[in-house]
Amino acid sequence: MSNIIKLLPDSVANQIAAGEVIQRPASAVKELLENAVDAGATSIDLFIKEAGKTLIQIIDNGCGMSAMDARMSFERHATSKIQKAEDLFAIRTMGFRGEALASIAAIAQVEMKTRPLEDELGTCLKIEGSEVKSQEPCPCKPGTSIAIKNLFFNVPARRNFLKSNTVETRHIIEEFTRVALVNPDVAFSMTHNDKPVFRLPKSNAKLRIVNIFGNNYDQRLLPVEQETTQLSVKGFIVKPEFAKKKRGEQFFFVNGRFIKHAYLNHAVENAFAELLPTDAYPSYFLNLEIDPANIDINIHPTKTEVNFQDARYVYAVIQAAVKQSIGKHSLTPTIDFDVDPAIDAMFVNPPKEVEQPQIKVNPDYNPFKESQEKRPSLYRAPVQKGDENWETLYQQSVPEQQPQQHLIPEQDSEVNKIDDARFFQVHNRFILTNVRSGLMIIDQQKAHERILYEKFLQELENKLPVSQQQLFPITLQFSADDAMVIHALKDSLNKLGFTFDTIGNSGFVFQGIPEGMKESELESVLEKIIETDKKKSGSLVADVNNSLARSLAARLSTKAGKKLDVREMGMIFDSLFACTMPEVAPDGSNIVAIVPLKDLEKFLKEKGK
Ligand code: ADP
Ligand code: MG
Repeated sequence: MSNIIKLLPDSVANQIAAGEVIQRPASAVKELLENAVDAGATSIDLFIKEAGKTLIQIIDNGCGMSAMDARMSFERHATSKIQKAEDLFAIRTMGFRGEALASIAAIAQVEMKTRPLEDELGTCLKIEGSEVKSQEPCPCKPGTSIAIKNLFFNVPARRNFLKSNTVETRHIIEEFTRVALVNPDVAFSMTHNDKPVFRLPKSNAKLRIVNIFGNNYDQRLLPVEQETTQLSVKGFIVKPEFAKKKRGEQFFFVNGRFIKHAYLNHAVENAFAELLPTDAYPSYFLNLEIDPANIDINIHPTKTEVNFQDARYVYAVIQAAVKQSIGKHSLTPTIDFDVDPAIDAMFVNPPKEVEQPQIKVNPDYNPFKESQEKRPSLYRAPVQKGDENWETLYQQSVPEQQPQQHLIPEQDSEVNKIDDARFFQVHNRFILTNVRSGLMIIDQQKAHERILYEKFLQELENKLPVSQQQLFPITLQFSADDAMVIHALKDSLNKLGFTFDTIGNSGFVFQGIPEGMKESELESVLEKIIETDKKKSGSLVADVNNSLARSLAARLSTKAGKKLDVREMGMIFDSLFACTMPEVAPDGSNIVAIVPLKDLEKFLKEKGK
């Protein structure tokens, strides 16, 4: 048999390799923007025509290239950024593979003008399909201008594969945004078909976000800042009340590089968890700085993935940082971060001389672990154990008054002067009360939901549940896949007070249900739990507990429209402010509002005018 294996011609090999790096106009934009950043530019302008299909041009004022370097830059694996294998573990630049320009030149018509500041003349280089058409000295501004014309002109299959201009432009904007967000000290602009899309002056991290996403972000951002010996996390989260229905603005950057990381994303979502409505996603802009030796960015040619040597540590620090930021924003500063020196010990490879970390965080911190008993009551004596159930709260006799504590600094002087007439119900929906600064309005249904939610979560996490045993066990039959959910949640359900045996695969006999729950509610409560669980796939234990507690609380809370007497209102007030997050409902909406006295005065004045 004759030999059949042959080497591919260079032009074909280059095109194949290019396909790895340049999939669409947006990939070229990303590579060129990153080159400009690596070149130390302080001003970068992007011009595109027809979604980058006919023109992508980037002009920077960076270091420029000599005539020789200009020619070299288009060779495959030609780079000024690393020289030896070890350098791979100390990468501080965006590029390092030396593949981008070679790839782009293989599949487009490229014209580059470049000039180092110190040279008088620059170089103009034209390349088409890897072939150098001309190279000559030319007068030009310091820096580099690269124009990519007719991307995929020689790979029609690729060109036809491109999506509509709208879709391709969206991809370009996405790449542009990522680079612009993490380089706020560089001025950027983007122009599409001669129309300005972005004009971003040199600024700071916060302003850059506002300039990209809109002025209303100014009020929505909460700063995040956490530094340990190994890692620094800085940036912003968007307040929970502005969470998006779809995954939108979620940005992680590691040493200036945009990354996607499902596990770390979970750390943020988890820190937000109980503050977000179901099916809402938090927005965040977080920059991580970590020793490049502790990450591996070398795993994918398009480089949005990064492997951390110790992802668990990074997870813990991010989660703590975000929780702390939310806690600070909270109306009542109830979140208190214990110092836990153990966290740095978690890191697999601590440096020889370990310095004292500047801020230490507790990765296990859980705002719900703190039991209500430990919290002093604002209004009445602490709720007795076993009496935490809502229905019995209503019937409980009034215990003796206790000295008041400073839980809500703004109100404590008022709280000290308790009299029974200080609660007033409006339209069977809102509870009104006096606070030093004005009038406090509490949504009774949401308040009750919050109280129950925290109670259930606590039970799920550590305490023994209170279950009421049924005289006549209740038998329920479920569909096969609903039954699977119940089987999977058995432990958690037991902790909540549901006790049951199974008959066959999908039948259940309930002997006990959570105290306070009516027998007639059992089926609908379980359905709600099953439905919530199905929506969340692959969730961790914390999520399961969270959604269980959330759906149960929503189902069992006192509905708006129930008349409450003064004592019941006091109970709600008391239990609400014994919660870790009294001012937000589990769905993220506000429970409490305060109308300042001066606004009341103003309101009356205006009316009287
Ligand atoms: P990499 O960025 O991985 O090194 P590229 O193919 O993107 O590979 O670029 C090759 C080289 O060309 C870079 O290492 C850099 O030295 C030079 N270069 C590319 N773009 C610019 C630019 N805008 N300004 C200055 N030098 C550049
Ligand atoms: Mg590059």
